[in-house]
Amino acid sequence: MFCIKNGFKNVNFSDYLNPEKIKIELDRYIIGQNETKEIISVAVYNHYKRLYLIKNKKILLEKSNIILIGPTGCGKTLMVKTLAKIVNVPIICVDATSFTEAGYVGDDVESIIQKLLHECNYNVELTEKSIIYIDEIDKISKKTDFFSGKDVSGEGVQQSMLKLIEGVILNVPPLIERKNLQQIFSVDTTNILFIVGGAFSGIESIINYRINQELNFIKKNFELLNIINYTNSDDLINFGIIPEFLGRLPILAKFKELNESEYVYILIKPRNSLIKQFCYLFIIEGVNIKFTFDAIKEIAKIAVKRKIGARGLKSILESVLLKAMFIFPSKINLKLILIYKDVIIFNKKPLFIYK
Ligand code: ADP
Repeated sequence: MFCIKNGFKNVNFSDYLNPEKIKIELDRYIIGQNETKEIISVAVYNHYKRLYLIKNKKILLEKSNIILIGPTGCGKTLMVKTLAKIVNVPIICVDATSFTEAGYVGDDVESIIQKLLHECNYNVELTEKSIIYIDEIDKISKKTDFFSGKDVSGEGVQQSMLKLIEGVILNVPPLIERKNLQQIFSVDTTNILFIVGGAFSGIESIINYRINQELNFIKKNFELLNIINYTNSDDLINFGIIPEFLGRLPILAKFKELNESEYVYILIKPRNSLIKQFCYLFIIEGVNIKFTFDAIKEIAKIAVKRKIGARGLKSILESVLLKAMFIFPSKINLKLILIYKDVIIFNKKPLFIYK
């Protein structure tokens, strides 16, 4: 049996947070993605446990950064931002496409650390244990020119990010508005948790091809549901993530496309859900607005069909409510607007109920 003496029983590290508590908190804001929430809760818990061990017990553990893959609008950024709130550390979200091959000594990387430092009110210790989320990582995948065999895209950019993710000491000046500080801050990125994410659209055919090769003798042209769930590191490398980069992101968390009932929940459940937000626009002028459950289901169905993720729900609601929003401010004695199924399906006028 493998065990560690002098473990956590005598320190109250886990009284503060544990993976289950992190997941319960995530559940309050993010609908679905249950397995992913578990993976991420454990990863983030371990990351901060690692920092605790380094600081208090002088034990060195390797860091485990995270790669998130899944379709657009399924909650990747929301998950990372919510995590940062739960563990109470600053976070900045940046786009991979804003990196250049200039590398970690170039302006781009420096300015990320500069912004992070600013967010942390120039507290270097806090900056060094924060989270950096790099979105659209799939947009810097390696692509080779068919004729010349030369790299025509993101390989150099990925190379340039290796040092930053692994750990490097950067000397950064304050942002312009704090120039009076006249000080250079030395920030070590070794303990910053890096989470990268992307939609990796098109990876399905790579996974499908691999699985069909593997199953060649059993069943040909095997079609899988939720194929993203089967992604492995070979698929990501075939997509164009270089192995050295992937090697620094040992935790792979996959997000599923949201289904109809999850969209329904997203519309109504979160504290600041979209439907609640629109209701305020009416309530502020003394008019109530209600949606039948059938109508909400129809909105969710449109979102599933359009395949643009939860971000698309807002534009669907905008167009559904356009007529009501146009008419109601000029109506006197209006008490309630009812959005029923046919308003969504046949673009009918909502029901107006007067006092
Ligand atoms: P992406 O996966 O592209 O990073 P986001 O996390 O930015 O998507 O999602 C966009 C918006 O859609 C969020 O701000 C949130 O309002 C909503 N949303 C997406 N997925 C979920 C989810 N699983 N639960 C609740 N809201 C979600």
